[in-house]
Amino acid sequence: MPYLIDPDDLGSLFPNEPSYRADQLRSWLYEHPVLSADQMTNLPAHMRDEISDKLWPFSVETEQTADNGTTMKWLFRAPDGNAIEAVLMGYPKRNTLCISSQAGCALGCTFCATGQFGFDRHLEPGEIYAQVAYASAYLAASPLEGCPDHLTNIVYMGMGEPLANYARVRESLRRIIEVRGLGARSITVSTVGVVPGMLRLAEEPWQVTLAVSLHAADDELRSSLVPLNKRYPIAEVEAAAAKFFDAKGRRVSLEWTLIDGVNDTLEQARKLAPIAERLQSHVNVIALNPTPLSPDRPSRPERIESFMSELNRLGVNSTLRHMRGQDIDAACGQLRARSEPKRGSAQRVEIGKR
Ligand code: SF4
Repeated sequence: MPYLIDPDDLGSLFPNEPSYRADQLRSWLYEHPVLSADQMTNLPAHMRDEISDKLWPFSVETEQTADNGTTMKWLFRAPDGNAIEAVLMGYPKRNTLCISSQAGCALGCTFCATGQFGFDRHLEPGEIYAQVAYASAYLAASPLEGCPDHLTNIVYMGMGEPLANYARVRESLRRIIEVRGLGARSITVSTVGVVPGMLRLAEEPWQVTLAVSLHAADDELRSSLVPLNKRYPIAEVEAAAAKFFDAKGRRVSLEWTLIDGVNDTLEQARKLAPIAERLQSHVNVIALNPTPLSPDRPSRPERIESFMSELNRLGVNSTLRHMRGQDIDAACGQLRARSEPKRGSAQRVEIGKR
């Protein structure tokens, strides 16, 4: 499986071929990804044959489209049975791919379908990067309606907590930025507040964007929604975000999933405002995408409006992100939840354990 091999070591797949063949293969995998090895036209037939049925480190189990052809969602299946979800969202001038970094997640946020299903394993760098390559190849072959024919942005906001799988996520970033050549500023890494990972990311050479999923502005409420908050409370997360801002000169964005009657109060908006002000952060608001195992519901439009108006009154900029693909279970973990309805036992791992 060529995507599971370090891009500098692809020659090991074909030890009897001249070295330029590895360069050609790397170009097909990273610069001009294609859906099938048959399309790697400058490789000899025997090389194409050898990798044709193992080009991708997963099979495509489900492919769904929504929003008039501008949203695609894939459920990939790894050979060991683990599910990997990716969502492609097209806009007139950009295509954003949301990728997964773990199969499942150990952090158990109460409103999240992935968290409700527990943790299976970390994804390898090649499995993370292959989601990018697959979407790129798909776009080149079949651009989304009214959208560019190439990938412009990547967000690590799919299944899993990226900074709990730091070394592998780091290597996937290296491949995207240094091998494929996508600008680091086009990449957003999200976290629910894995403070050691935030501090490490601040030391990396890339100008990626960091998005902190806050969801609540006091420790009591946040700990009830995001159990990791008991380990890294809001003040520590804010301090790490401030260090990232200082190191990179890039503002950290704050993500807030609005849950009806839970975190959509004016009181929460008033507690959030000074945090956003200190970090000079923009707040991205999204109404909850309901999940099968939780009674939580999305905030009603009037509560969303009053929450955002209060932020605005207090001088904080916020944007309401529209839920993409509601008819295709587009929130992370939902496609998997539908494909494996009987699973859901939460297996825990330590943060950062490799
Ligand atoms: S919101 Fe993110 S960190 Fe929390 S359980 Fe879901 S995938 Fe894990």
